[in-house]
Amino acid sequence: MSVNAQEWMRGVWDGKVFYSPAEWMKGDWNGDFFYELSKLGDIACLKFCMDIGLVAKRYECPTCGDDMKLSGGDRWLWACRKHGANAHYIKRSLRKGTWFQASHMKFGLILRLTYMWLNKMPKESIMNDLGVASQTATDWKNFCKEVCMDHCLRFDGQVGGDSMTVDIYEAWLSEKKYKIERRVKGNSVYVGLVRNLNDCFVEVVEDRSAEVLVEVIIKRIVPGSTILINCGSLYSSSCALFEQLEVLHNVTIKDTSKSTDGTWLKVKRALQGNDFLDGEFNDEVAEYIWRRQNNYVITQKMKNFLKAISESFPPKSKD
Ligand SMILES: [Zn+2]
Repeated sequence: MSVNAQEWMRGVWDGKVFYSPAEWMKGDWNGDFFYELSKLGDIACLKFCMDIGLVAKRYECPTCGDDMKLSGGDRWLWACRKHGANAHYIKRSLRKGTWFQASHMKFGLILRLTYMWLNKMPKESIMNDLGVASQTATDWKNFCKEVCMDHCLRFDGQVGGDSMTVDIYEAWLSEKKYKIERRVKGNSVYVGLVRNLNDCFVEVVEDRSAEVLVEVIIKRIVPGSTILINCGSLYSSSCALFEQLEVLHNVTIKDTSKSTDGTWLKVKRALQGNDFLDGEFNDEVAEYIWRRQNNYVITQKMKNFLKAISESFPPKSKD
């Protein structure tokens, strides 16, 4: 089986008609959609995953450079078989390095699991509806949370600006590794959350000090911002340094470590009862931040979450 680009765009593949990519993108990605998609079968689900960038659409043969052929069956593979002078038979896993790696479950089932986690369905419903084991439901919940964590750590821009307020707090970084290689070194973070907008940066550092925080502010916060520092005695022990920074970087800095009403306190309150410790930045906090940033209807949220997955697992089209 091979993929013809023109047929692909018309929604035809391997002689069968599926939705075209444009139609997929217009659709409401709700529970019914993923149920119907699953019923269409593994090929339709795979095509969907290719269209939205979860799985590579092509793979280059490491020996001859030609596009490898997709072979189906129980297990999808990229394969290249050549005879003659440069004879070779090469196979590559379709799932390696993707959201679907290290799992034998069907693509459609994993999409439905992802959707149900995002829609905050209880574990029991997920197990009953999808017929999966308790451990499987727990594993995929953890993978989803890890995507939120990776999303927070991957953001490499600046936040804030004129008339914007950025709350900064410090925490230990507590990461559980499931599928994603760690991107950064260090066990501590400075987190900046913009009031109302929920823009957020998470800067990983090897140690915490006023000097390090000054560097983080210059790197991560746009001049003109008001910065609220909620970092214990860090501000009061280095006032002069932060006063210099106000002039140098054109920001207003206030110490809110003794305040009883800050964004970070609200985050802590919202996470009460969850698997979360005060002073720790873990995947519970990352999930909370991602959900705040993506406070849309579920279908839009699902589009955004699948995009976040494709950014955490960019499909590779060669070795
Ligand atoms: Zn080849």
